[in-house]
Amino acid sequence: MFENSSKTNLEKLGEFGLIKKLTENYTPKNPDLIKGIGDDAAILKTNSEKLQVISTDLMVENINFDLAYTPLKHLGYKAVVSNISDIYAMNATPKFITISVALSSKYTLEAMEEFYTGIYLACEKYDIDIIGGDTNTSPQGLTISITVIGEVSPDKYVTRSGCKPNDLLCVTGDLGGAYMGHQLMEREKRVFLANPEMQPDLEGYDYIVGRQLKPEARKDVIDLLSELSVKPTSMIDISDGLASELKHLALESNVGFNIYEEKLPVDTQTLEMASEFNMDATMCALNGGEDFELLFTIDQADFEKIKSNMDITVIGYATEQANICQLITPAGNQFDIKAQGWN
Ligand SMILES: [Mg+2]
Repeated sequence: MFENSSKTNLEKLGEFGLIKKLTENYTPKNPDLIKGIGDDAAILKTNSEKLQVISTDLMVENINFDLAYTPLKHLGYKAVVSNISDIYAMNATPKFITISVALSSKYTLEAMEEFYTGIYLACEKYDIDIIGGDTNTSPQGLTISITVIGEVSPDKYVTRSGCKPNDLLCVTGDLGGAYMGHQLMEREKRVFLANPEMQPDLEGYDYIVGRQLKPEARKDVIDLLSELSVKPTSMIDISDGLASELKHLALESNVGFNIYEEKLPVDTQTLEMASEFNMDATMCALNGGEDFELLFTIDQADFEKIKSNMDITVIGYATEQANICQLITPAGNQFDIKAQGWN
């Protein structure tokens, strides 16, 4: 199956490159598989009227989370939310999760109870049941693997691949907040490490800190689209940043996108924090991850139905230029958007 004989550095390859390499020669055999690897979740045929939607995720301490500023309760909540966000991105409803953890001896029962308090809170809020999992010991730190199982009617699911030229590109909520919250907490951590007497200064930045520590999945938007009878032509959730997710939609739908800089929804706290860090707010909106907002495309005929909704912003449109994603500035200049994503 694999014909590599040289040694390729995984860092150079990146997450998507690695997944592509590991799966490109694989052809699924089971006819009950409707959508396999390569979207936010997999879709399976079942004996009921509904299809089953499945996604899994792995989180590793000091790679995906830092317990220096992430309370365990928040970590548990976020672990569930980030997973079910992938199910909503298929226009589906999450129902069940399994949770597996590997933990080192530094973790006490009380610490794990804190972690599970967050997990239970998220399950309560999103109406999900925990149905199993596994625990094991780890030589170092905490590793969390969550699998989420959801369902969707055969006529309702949305993948990354249905967008057509001239469809409108929409995003929910605002962008870059979770990333700026992360930058702020990294700064306060450095201050604390240099002088443990210093208390973290998060005054006035509760919104972006919340975006990083306690994100929500956009179940409300999925419900709203259903009420409005709007079925997106393609959809993805924003976990790695707008630029990266845009590239996925472009690639899978074989279209390009033009997006307008002045349309990007950015909260005032994100703008203020970006200017404090001397960072460009547009770059934060494009490349900041973990907002867990939804990025989707709709047919132009559906514009009337969504236009007055404050939670949905049309930021651009799809073009026929496959895989060319461009940012148009207020002055009318165009720049190629490069995906950064995970490394
Ligand atoms: Mg996703």
